Amino acid sequence: MQVYKFGGASIQNAEAIRNVGNILKKFQGDQLLIVISAIGHTTNKLVALTNAYLKLEPTATILLEELKQDHFQVLQELFPEQHPAIFDDLNNAFVEIEWLLEEEPGDTPEYIFDQIVSIGEVASSKIVAAYLNSIECLSTWVDARNYIKTDNNYKEANVDWVKTEAEVRKTLPAILNKGFVITQGFIGGTSENFTTTLGREGSDYSAAIFSACLGATSLTIWKDVPGVLNADPKWFERTEKIHELSYHDAIELTYYGATVIHPKTIKPLQNHNIPLFVKSFKNPEETGTKISGVAPPVSIPSFIFKVNQVLISIMPKDLSFIIEENLSQIFQTFHAYKVKVNTMHNSAVSFSVSADYEEEKIQKLIADLSINYHIKYNTGLELVTIRYYNEETIERVTLHKDILLELKSRHTCQLLMKNKPVMQ
Ligand code: ASP
Ligand code: MG
Repeated sequence: MQVYKFGGASIQNAEAIRNVGNILKKFQGDQLLIVISAIGHTTNKLVALTNAYLKLEPTATILLEELKQDHFQVLQELFPEQHPAIFDDLNNAFVEIEWLLEEEPGDTPEYIFDQIVSIGEVASSKIVAAYLNSIECLSTWVDARNYIKTDNNYKEANVDWVKTEAEVRKTLPAILNKGFVITQGFIGGTSENFTTTLGREGSDYSAAIFSACLGATSLTIWKDVPGVLNADPKWFERTEKIHELSYHDAIELTYYGATVIHPKTIKPLQNHNIPLFVKSFKNPEETGTKISGVAPPVSIPSFIFKVNQVLISIMPKDLSFIIEENLSQIFQTFHAYKVKVNTMHNSAVSFSVSADYEEEKIQKLIADLSINYHIKYNTGLELVTIRYYNEETIERVTLHKDILLELKSRHTCQLLMKNKPVMQ
């Protein structure tokens, strides 16, 4: 059996969903589990809705109405002759949010976030399942929350692999014998059946979890790009497709911030030796990229860009050396504020760290660190990681830039930079 994952862009409107239907029609009769993300930018809107609700702002209800309208619009286009069951079904998904909004927020923001934001995937998967059945691609909708079992670390839940594998194996193989299985990415459930989410963009990870637990022969992630490219077309004019990639290289690229696949996706696949294909839903016949255990070395350099970086330099106030004891205290503080470290570097009396500049979080972190350390920081920086770098590629990305930090290992070079001031 195989697992397919379709992201938000592939189902962003009725036409896109019809295209997905055309792709899937060709696989009728195959054992296929299909993981679906929320439609288009639904999740961002649901996040805005959650924030408004938490601040008791009236925009929450307006955003909900907009989202409902967007989804019903898609349904109307897919089922012009109406289709009562799915219209009711979709309405029921949004009623969950309506009920929540009627009460004042009474739980933790993280818990509330997961209850609201998860509805995006519930809604989209219901629409896709109904549409596939209407074009005679027999499909069963299943609730991922009954299969992906997690702890209650809301917003970034950890998977309980033993329970998840047991649930998946208990019922899914029989359902797969009846036709396609449609389920949601991104969401899971606790042992008390509360909804959790696995972290933003986590649908790829969901697909990998299902693949691993079912022993799939392969996972295919359908994207709006032809495969894994050596740079994000958003930042680079000329990009090249990487035809084959090892799990190891894929993990490194996603770790440094390549957004093409969620970083947690590769490990479960590697553990079970399941190949991952990244293909274009716009050109489904093209080969895409294959990620597996047996790939030739990558022959072209890859570039990963992260903007809006902050470089924080941390110096003990008593001018003591940076030793393990300080480091463990510093890391604990980063962990407490959930700040992810992108690069780090230490000298005898100072330790420097770069991270995404999420202002509120970083300012709190800095205030806390300032109790025991002198802190200096620099914002508005850009972090470029080059995998399989050479001097020419470094020159290319550092043009007109001041380099604040340069880290090199055998295969990877990371440059933290600022634009050079423009001379008058
Ligand atoms: N819909 C979720 C998000 O936007 C999960 C995903 O797309 O992978 O974060
Ligand atoms: Mg997405």
